[in-house]
Amino acid sequence: MSDTMPMSEARRYQQLRGHLSYLKLNDAAEALPRVLDQARAERMTLTTALEKLLEIEVEATEARKLSSRLRFACLPEPWTLNDFDFAAQPGVDEKLIRDLATLRFLDNASNVLLVGPPGVGKTMLAVVLARSAVDAGHRVYFTTAAELAAKCHKAALEDRWSSIMRFFAGPRLLVIDELGYLPLPGDGASALFQVINQRYLKSSTILTTNVGIADWAGAFGDATVAAAMLDRLLHRAAVVGIDGPSYRLRSHQSHSDNLRKGVTGRAG
Ligand code: ADP
Ligand code: MG
Repeated sequence: MSDTMPMSEARRYQQLRGHLSYLKLNDAAEALPRVLDQARAERMTLTTALEKLLEIEVEATEARKLSSRLRFACLPEPWTLNDFDFAAQPGVDEKLIRDLATLRFLDNASNVLLVGPPGVGKTMLAVVLARSAVDAGHRVYFTTAAELAAKCHKAALEDRWSSIMRFFAGPRLLVIDELGYLPLPGDGASALFQVINQRYLKSSTILTTNVGIADWAGAFGDATVAAAMLDRLLHRAAVVGIDGPSYRLRSHQSHSDNLRKGVTGRAG
């Protein structure tokens, strides 16, 4: 097309739309007529109009990336920090949790250990921190200790050991939920150790467990592996011990209290 021959406005519009589609800026392409109308109506400068158009594409891209990170993360619940009732769990240091939620611990590859009996909110806090990291743009993966052991075991049988190790090394934040008293299947303890070891000083891991740190040797069956794992986990770590009441039992308790009140109320 020669420069001297003016292209009709309609033709230019089609070309522009075509460019946007070719560059896969589909949200901008779709918004183009609306933005052009608005630009004309509001006598926008060219800069403003272009910025408006591209802002639409940037926001749509951000939203797509967020939902893809969220899908990848496999968080079991949609919990966020606002869902956590600090008043119900005085055993939890609110200031520490809010500090962890700023995600500064990711910067120096620190770990977070959430230790406490069942029902006190360990998984919930792990999910809350993981969710903050997803929202902030980090690659996060949530798994349980048993699932991690099973995945590694399967990979070993299928000759995919190095690829599964790369997978668990990848996320900026890995959550390993529910390390418990029950022994991990197969050589799960050793797989877990290797995952922790390769992430050590590189990227953060959140681990939840009902096993007090003093009892790890027993829980792993192998005191040397337990000590080596703790050594790496605790080198840079925030340990959150939650020793309060079980939230699960609490609601259960108040439910049965209400039932009882109802019964005695009617009887009395
Ligand atoms: P744990 O992993 O320690 O066994 P969970 O995190 O699974 O406990 O919590 C058990 C249940 O109680 C979940 O449904 C969770 O949402 C709820 N829960 C626990 N603590 C709190 C809290 N402080 N505020 C709100 N809900 C809580
Ligand atoms: Mg749990």
